[in-house]
Amino acid sequence: MKEVYNFSAGPAVLPKPVLKKAQQELLNYHDSGMSVMELSHRSSLFEEIIENSEQLLRQLMGIPSNYRVLFLQGGASLQFSMIPLNLAKNKTACYINTGSWSKKAISEAKKIAGVTVKTIASSEEQHFNCIPALDQIEIPKDAAYVHITTNNTIEGTVYTKLPQTGSVPLIADMSSDILSKQYNINDFGMIYAGAQKNIGPAGLTVVIIRDDLLNQEAALSSMLDYKIQAESHSLYNTPPTFAIYIAQLVFEWLTELGGIAAIEKQNKEKAAKLYAAIDNSKLFCSPVEPNDRSIMNIPFVTNNQELDKKFIADATKIGFENLKGHRSVGGMRASLYNAFPEQGVAALIDFMHNFEAKHLG
Ligand code: PLP
Repeated sequence: MKEVYNFSAGPAVLPKPVLKKAQQELLNYHDSGMSVMELSHRSSLFEEIIENSEQLLRQLMGIPSNYRVLFLQGGASLQFSMIPLNLAKNKTACYINTGSWSKKAISEAKKIAGVTVKTIASSEEQHFNCIPALDQIEIPKDAAYVHITTNNTIEGTVYTKLPQTGSVPLIADMSSDILSKQYNINDFGMIYAGAQKNIGPAGLTVVIIRDDLLNQEAALSSMLDYKIQAESHSLYNTPPTFAIYIAQLVFEWLTELGGIAAIEKQNKEKAAKLYAAIDNSKLFCSPVEPNDRSIMNIPFVTNNQELDKKFIADATKIGFENLKGHRSVGGMRASLYNAFPEQGVAALIDFMHNFEAKHLG
C-alpha cells in the first residue's frame, strides 16, 4: 500500500488501530452475522454503540450531567442555522468574527427571520491573522448568546483565553479543535463540531448543549429542533450509524492513550516542532500572530507564490498529501490533528530543510 502522510484539514487522518478494528469487524459485527452498517438503529447492538459513544465522550471531555450530547447530521454548517433558529428568535445573537467559518456562521444567522445579528469583535481588518482583543467587547445583557469559533481551521488561529460573557451563554464551533486540548465544558452553553477532524468520518455532527438552552422556541422543523433531537436520544430519524460506530472506536483509542491531557501534550509537542522549524527558517514564515497560533492547523508561506506551488508539488510527489493552503489564503497548511503521527512532522521538517537549502542556494 502507498505510504503517505495526510496533512488534510478534513476529512482528516484517522488512527490506524481504529481503521484496523473497523476492518476486522466490517463483515461480522460481534457475531451478529451483519455489518455495523446493516444493523437497525433500533437494535440493541446499535443502542449499545450509541450509548457507549456518548459515555466515552462524556468521560473524555468531562461533560456534566446537565448537558445533553446529540449525534446529528448536516455538518457544522447546519448548526450555523439551527443555533439562531432555536435560541435567538426575536433576540440579539452576538458573534466574534475570527475567520471564514465565523463569517459563514454570521451570514447564516442573518438569514433567520426575527434574529438581530451583532458582530461584537472582529479580526477581519488584520486579515484574520489573530484573535481580536476581548477586553473591550460589549455584550447586550439580553443577548441570546455569544458565538465563537475556537480554532480557525483556515487561518490557523486559536483562542488562548475565552471571552467573558457573564450570564450570556457562550456557544463554540469547536469543529477543528474538539478533543485536542482540555476545555471546561461549564464555560459553554453549547459546543458543536463536525466529526471529520478529531472525531471520525464526515456525516456526523456532535452537539453538546446545556439543558436550559434546549428549545426555548419551537424550531420550525422537528429535525432542526434540539429539544426533539434530545428527547429522542438522537434517534428521531436514522442516524449516521457507521460514523457513530467509528467515533466510538476513536473515543476508545483516545481513552486508552490517556485521554485529552495526554493527546494535548503530544499535540503541543508536534506543533512546537513545526513552528520552531518555520521560525528558524530563512525561506518559510508563519502569517499568524505568535500568541494566537493554532496547534491543529499550521499555515506557512514563502514570499513567492511560484515557490509555494513548487513546494506543494514536490511534497505531493513524496507522499505528503493535502499541504496546499485553503484556496482563500493560499500558501501551505499542515493540519496536525490528534491522529497525525509525530514521524510525519519530523519528515515534513526534514523536507522543508532540504527544500530551503536547494532554493536559497
Ligand atoms: N467550522 C469549522 C471551524 C470548520 O473547520 C468547518 C469545516 O472544515 C466547518 C465549520 C464546516 O463543517 P461542515 O463541513 O461539517 O459543515
